[in-house]
Amino acid sequence: MIEILNIIGGRDATGDGRLINDIDPSTGKVIATLREAGPEQVAEAVASARQAFMDSSWSAAPVPEKQVVLRKAAAAMRNAADEIVDMQVAEAGITPGAVRGQLGIGAAWFDYFADFLATVGGTVHGQTAGATTVVAQEPIGVCAAFTPWNVPVALSAVKIAPALAAGNSIVWKPSELTPMVTRRMAELIIGAGLPDGVLNLVNGRGSTTGAALAAAPGIDMLSFTGGHSGGAAVAEAAAKRHLPCTTELGGKSATVVFDDASLDAAVDGAVMSAYGNNGEACLNGTRILVQESIAEAFKTRFTRAAQSLKVGDPREDGVMVGPMISSEHRDRVASFYDASNGVKLFGGESSGDGYFIAPGALEVTSSNCRIWREEVFGPVAAFRTFSDEAEAIALANDSDHGLAGYVWTRDIGRAMRVAQAVRTGTMMVNSVFRRELNAPFGGFKASGVGREGGLHSWLNYTETKTTVISHG
Ligand code: NAD
Repeated sequence: MIEILNIIGGRDATGDGRLINDIDPSTGKVIATLREAGPEQVAEAVASARQAFMDSSWSAAPVPEKQVVLRKAAAAMRNAADEIVDMQVAEAGITPGAVRGQLGIGAAWFDYFADFLATVGGTVHGQTAGATTVVAQEPIGVCAAFTPWNVPVALSAVKIAPALAAGNSIVWKPSELTPMVTRRMAELIIGAGLPDGVLNLVNGRGSTTGAALAAAPGIDMLSFTGGHSGGAAVAEAAAKRHLPCTTELGGKSATVVFDDASLDAAVDGAVMSAYGNNGEACLNGTRILVQESIAEAFKTRFTRAAQSLKVGDPREDGVMVGPMISSEHRDRVASFYDASNGVKLFGGESSGDGYFIAPGALEVTSSNCRIWREEVFGPVAAFRTFSDEAEAIALANDSDHGLAGYVWTRDIGRAMRVAQAVRTGTMMVNSVFRRELNAPFGGFKASGVGREGGLHSWLNYTETKTTVISHG
């Protein structure tokens, strides 16, 4: 049996805590184990990150040296694509095609921030007589990164690449549910030429290893992607010490389909948006709002398209929807098929030895139900109809979340009005799951604080220093 080890100060370390099984959700079988890192090991990892930061061999390395390492990390990830894809498919149950795309984005973040380093510089101001003021960004120090299981490679890369580019050291706490792929990724990044202690990996549950890292003395910032309760715990730990903290949290995004949309494109887009990544993506469009005049036609076609998605082990040909990450999560997803949530349209059948559940949907008429308000993080959509643009906007905004949204219309004026009126961090017009590396991504309302991507990531992982030089 493979044992997944922590990496502390460049050395492998068995955890000193509880044994955790890494389970293949398609079969329910244990494929690896790990012992979680307890508070003492977390403290050791933070100390080694601090030591590496103070040594300056990475934090003060010239830009060309940093660029070489970042580009080597990107290349190493691409070269190991087959191995990484196999690991993530086995641990997370996501289809190989989706994982390959995510790996490409993960590698691209390293190249992107290597390029970015060539563009950054400070600013110079001369408004004070006899003095010049220089404003520059400096590395922040030791960054604590908390990452989820659903897109482990790309969502870890979007933290690690900019944090390294800025010259920081990192203690990374990846999800305990996908530890094999993140361990391999850490090996590849370190192997690209990082000095010992610049990137440390501590494995374990959020409530133990994660909580110990969030509270550890010696960290300088926290960057979290995951669910609301973990995000709140990490933000609280940061607030107690006045440390900067970014949170990328869950969503309950609306797909709004107007009667002038291309029905074919809107149905395909809505299906992909609701069920892509097994419905286990933060930006899934899980509240589907359809204009009354096309509602019956849309529902018929959507149902047919959703029922044609093959459910099963993602290693089998043609499978589009794999298992839920755990049996508990599959049972929670199934619990949404309850009359109090509305009328079931289709789906929700569990099958096989793995944690499979068929994609499905419920028709909802009230906002006071779980399926409308809670993130499911599984392949269940809520359908609702609207009469006009104003009602569509009101329903789309009737959520505590504000991560993403989708609007389908051929009327560009309407697309712009809806995109501006819906309170979310990202709106996509006649498209799904498009994310540009330059563009910020993150949430309004309860979907998080801060943004990731491009310049926004750079600012997350740097401090601003103002130096006033008197010459006069
Ligand atoms: P999670 O909150 O359970 O875990 C995320 C990470 O934080 C894991 O490494 C976990 O071990 C750790 N963690 C959990 N509780 C913690 C605590 N109290 N202290 C410290 N660390 C803790 O989330 P998950 O189940 O891995 O991921 C699914 C959630 O993530 C969904 O809600 C999804 O919407 C969200 N998500 C958001 C984005 C985004 O960019 N906004 C992207 C992907 C996933």
